[in-house]
Amino acid sequence: MEKVVIASRNQGKIAEISAILAKYGMEAVSRDDAGVPPFEIEETGETYEENSYLKAKAVMDITGTATLADDSGLSVDTLSGAPGVFTARYAGENCTYYDNNVKLLGELRGVPMEERTATFVTVITMLFPDGTSIVARGACPGRIAEALSGDRGFGYDPLFIPDGYDDTFAAMPVEVKNTVSHRARALMRLEELIVERERETSGAKKE
Ligand code: IMP
Repeated sequence: MEKVVIASRNQGKIAEISAILAKYGMEAVSRDDAGVPPFEIEETGETYEENSYLKAKAVMDITGTATLADDSGLSVDTLSGAPGVFTARYAGENCTYYDNNVKLLGELRGVPMEERTATFVTVITMLFPDGTSIVARGACPGRIAEALSGDRGFGYDPLFIPDGYDDTFAAMPVEVKNTVSHRARALMRLEELIVERERETSGAKKE
């Protein structure tokens, strides 16, 4: 069974990804279980693609095994795409989710609802030891609420209202969030790309 190391410590993400990989005969192993010592991977890229690649590469260099990493962020249109790759540390290094939400509300003070459009994005990079990779992107368009609402989820969930809904991610059942979220869409795309890759490699073997 092909092993794929997940370059994340988030148990929720590891569980979601493991379920998908298992369908295609791949076994997901967390970076801790793969024996990767805890170290901070510098997210120095300018795009989600670059950062997810950097994370996957840093772990693959240690294990020598296929590795999967993800990177997410929020782009607010009227802020020229900010916070973007700085989403996690928008209010400064070591800031809390609450600090980030307060900062975003401050930046958008006075901006009318129709101009508060934003997109959550996740990019997943699956890197193989032969240097090939699969890159899956998922996006969830929506808008930024004028006040915090809801107590579920994490990050900017109390402020992000996905298109087609009136509630923030934090105010809707988690099962609903998980069908429309950027991460859910990136995982769906990942699944499609794994199927394509399997088809191509089995075709190549027959030739
Ligand atoms: P990561 O790359 O998945 O760690 O995401 C970077 C940052 O984006 C997180 O620290 C959160 O602030 C934010 N973020 C990512 N996904 C979500 C989400 O589903 N809801 C709210 N915030 C999120």
